[in-house]
Amino acid sequence: MCDVGSNTAVTERPALTTLSDEERLVRDGVYEFADREIRPLVRQMDENAKISRQLIDRLFELNVMGIEIPEADGGTGGTFFHSVLVVEALSRVDPSVGVLVDVQNTLVVNALLRWGTDAQRRAWLPRLSQRSVGAYALSEAGSGSDAFALTTRAEARADGYVLTGRKLWITNANEADLFVVFATVNPEAGYRGITAFLVERGAAGFTIGTKEDKLGIRASSTCELLLDNCLVAMDAVLGEPGKGYKVAIETLNEGRIGIGAQMLGLAQGALDHAIRYTKERKQFGHEIASFQGVQFQLARAATDVEATRLLVYNAARLRDAGAPFLQEAAMCKLFSSEVAERVASLAVNLFGGNGFVKDYPVEKLYRDAKIGQIYEGTSNLQLQTIAKQLLA
Ligand SMILES: Cc1cc2nc3c(=O)[nH]c(=O)nc-3n(C[C@H](O)[C@H](O)[C@H](O)COP(=O)(O)OP(=O)(O)OC[C@H]3O[C@@H](n4cnc5c(N)ncnc54)[C@H](O)[C@@H]3O)c2cc1C
Repeated sequence: MCDVGSNTAVTERPALTTLSDEERLVRDGVYEFADREIRPLVRQMDENAKISRQLIDRLFELNVMGIEIPEADGGTGGTFFHSVLVVEALSRVDPSVGVLVDVQNTLVVNALLRWGTDAQRRAWLPRLSQRSVGAYALSEAGSGSDAFALTTRAEARADGYVLTGRKLWITNANEADLFVVFATVNPEAGYRGITAFLVERGAAGFTIGTKEDKLGIRASSTCELLLDNCLVAMDAVLGEPGKGYKVAIETLNEGRIGIGAQMLGLAQGALDHAIRYTKERKQFGHEIASFQGVQFQLARAATDVEATRLLVYNAARLRDAGAPFLQEAAMCKLFSSEVAERVASLAVNLFGGNGFVKDYPVEKLYRDAKIGQIYEGTSNLQLQTIAKQLLA
């Protein structure tokens, strides 16, 4: 006979999507906040291509900028799964706000928690949890998918390292105080020369360059960074010299679950709009939601969203449990970004002409969805990761 008493995990969490009381509080609190305080700003922030600083301050007050930072350092001592819930809830209303919080938590804070020295953690964790935005600078003009082909140079001197080069596509660059910058201390050593540095805004020789004029997530800043003989102290190295590739791989493996959460929230937001609209809009004397053709489209979209949620939550829960999650993370990013594009596109269709104009919210979500297949590893790179695991 099987011992049902030992099977407590099954009764405590009947589904991957079952939330603990604490998790539900986090998700509902952030969604209510997003609905109340972000929704009224979405269109204006998209048009201005800028996130309001007051909103960023409110995100700090809401304690979502240092989710995994210990309480002693000003954070909430939460889990990675909490970050996923927060990014999902924000992205349901505005994926631009979702990615600001995502990069902060799943890349920058994550890298510091894992690789920071005591002094670096003391210097940065309280700031990151309370007032400073972070950015993560790996990509360059010549190194995107092939990230470790980067050429930004870090030359060792007696008093520190001198950084020279250009970074491209850096999210949060306009708002950030702290930049995790990847450079090579030894170009001949290939990926084994790559080193991560903590660079503070305002450092001599460090400037924020051109801001990109983007298709979607327009309120999220994406800028070039210029490093021109930028001197940083020896203790600005995050991790060890030559071990930056590990910092990058390990944080990005986790970061892509955050992008999965962003795309999940976006898809859910688009579906919510589509359901609401089709119950109001009348044609042929009936609500369009009464037509079976529309009902089936909504049902398929809801199934896609649920499948995405299972993939994203599963990857995040595996990560928190310390179990392997590489393949699951790649799958969740690949699938969620396709679902986001598909569901946002359906929402545009179901809004008819109203879906094609900026007076209604789904046009923006459709534009925002495209980025999910590009950043933190394109869909082809996710497929490559999954295939490697399958064929190993
Ligand atoms: C809005 C935005 C925000 C971003 N934020 C950041 C950030 O904060 N920090 C950061 O460091 N970077 C950031 N990026 C950069 C992003 O991660 C890169 O754009 C992405 O990794 C793709 O690199 P690429 O643009 O050079 O495209 P490429 O690498 O040139 O890829 C072009 C095409 O070729 C395909 N391809 C390339 N190699 C292969 C292969 N081996 N097999 C099959 N197909 C392949 C790709 O899938 C893609 O379809 C951001 C980009 C954008 C657009």
